[in-house]
Amino acid sequence: MDLAKPTPPPAPVRTAKPPAPRPGCHGTGCTTVPLVQWRRRLTAAELDTEQAAETGRRAERYLLRDVQKPPPVEGPMPDTSDYTHAVYACGGHAIAMDAAALVHAADCAGPNSATLPDCGCTPEPAVPTVLPVQELPAHWTAAPVGSS
Ligand SMILES: [Zn+2]
Ligand SMILES: [Zn+2]
Repeated sequence: MDLAKPTPPPAPVRTAKPPAPRPGCHGTGCTTVPLVQWRRRLTAAELDTEQAAETGRRAERYLLRDVQKPPPVEGPMPDTSDYTHAVYACGGHAIAMDAAALVHAADCAGPNSATLPDCGCTPEPAVPTVLPVQELPAHWTAAPVGSS
């Protein structure tokens, strides 16, 4: 009879998750630390990748659903208006500050434009941040609490 102690399982190795790689300037061949960023729409290939990921997430949710209940209702598939990618640039590859506040086209030359600080594309117009005030109908207004 072997009385040797069974070997305990090895302790789990806990390692710190490595930090995400720091983005570099998106200028071709530029390795400078970026100073600014702006957003651009996705190319068709990038959109296909995002939609494939969303399809996978929906399929996973469907598999994890409670089969005793109706299947989950998913909204419409996100399209190009739902995604943007960040573009990073160093000072030498930066576009104008006003243009950086807008969302640029998928084919924006951005940090590789020969006419910097003009990127060469027509960014989407800015969305107004102040929405018009709408009055509630009279039957939706109520007296303040405690004013009875
Ligand atoms: Zn650069
Ligand atoms: Zn642009």
